[in-house]
Amino acid sequence: MEDLLSMTLPELTEAVTDMGEKKFRARQIYEWIHKKGAASFSEMTNVPKNLREKLAGAYSFSAPEIRTVQESKIDGTRKYLFRMSDGEYVESVLMRYQYGLSVCISSQVGCRMGCSFCASTLLGLTRNLTAGEMLSQVYAIQRDMGERISHVVVMGTGEPMDNYDNLVRFLHMISDENGLHISERDLTVSTCGIVPGIRKLAEEKMAINLALSLHAPNDELRKKIMPVARAYSLKEIFEALDLYYEATKRRLTFEYSLIRGVNDSDECARELSRLLGRRNALVNLIPVNPVRETGYRETARTDVLAFQKKLENYGIHVTIRREMGRDIDGACGQLRKRYEETDSHL
Ligand code: SAH
Repeated sequence: MEDLLSMTLPELTEAVTDMGEKKFRARQIYEWIHKKGAASFSEMTNVPKNLREKLAGAYSFSAPEIRTVQESKIDGTRKYLFRMSDGEYVESVLMRYQYGLSVCISSQVGCRMGCSFCASTLLGLTRNLTAGEMLSQVYAIQRDMGERISHVVVMGTGEPMDNYDNLVRFLHMISDENGLHISERDLTVSTCGIVPGIRKLAEEKMAINLALSLHAPNDELRKKIMPVARAYSLKEIFEALDLYYEATKRRLTFEYSLIRGVNDSDECARELSRLLGRRNALVNLIPVNPVRETGYRETARTDVLAFQKKLENYGIHVTIRREMGRDIDGACGQLRKRYEETDSHL
């Protein structure tokens, strides 16, 4: 059955009129789902019961179940583990900033990119998430919090450009005025550098923020820690990023996870500054989150600050990622992985 949550308003309108119903019913239903956060047909009180029943017979519509929530005692970050309708687990994270509530969503169940420091990829890719499943992570958290979510980052488990069509559908629907209406400027997509995806997103003419998971200042080192670097060189990636910048004028963000003794030398900082040149760019330094299976260690705090200083001396804008929720299975994918492994006990 087709998933009601993934349908745009024009698609829903067609479906509803095909059932012999009035057009305005589609907008009512769409608003129940995408604006008011209804989690079931029974909540749609101004929609006639027989129409609700017809829809329930033709389309699937189910909110993901919140399996666990872990809240950080350090900064209030909340990590949600959802159980999807087919039993798969998906992680999302809620962060509170001065500018509002931000949700980090997953775009796939698992990931096939194989980055050597990342827990989300250890079990490989299970499947893509639908646009509706991406939306439902945001809706479920907003409902749970009882507060508006103002920002969304597609930076959880999965490679969004590896699920391109569902990603773009999600971006359109979450910014739609008939839904949550989150401004495109408050949406961010993070990619490990899938060049065709970056180029296509540039053509969508949406003012979405783009973050590149860079993690190394040259192809040789990047290939050692990120298999995707074998498919796309930094030269190709930066050509695509420049095109993206031209199309959107959104400042580019570069994520750089500092791994002790791997990518945190002075030479790396120098190469990184040369690579970024005069671009309108922000480097986000993240001391790597140790994952048991990877053996990597994070760069010491003083060395992180020295790396930052070095980049700043070269004229680069740098932030150090607030280390959110280190006490709650902080590293990407760790919570889900623990559940996948122990599911039989639940
Ligand atoms: N696939 C996308 C988005 C998901 S990963 C991407 O690659 O950008 C979100 C970010 O967390 C990426 O920058 C990723 O490289 C980083 N990351 C993954 N595991 C990490 C870890 N153990 N420590 C620090 N950063 C990590």
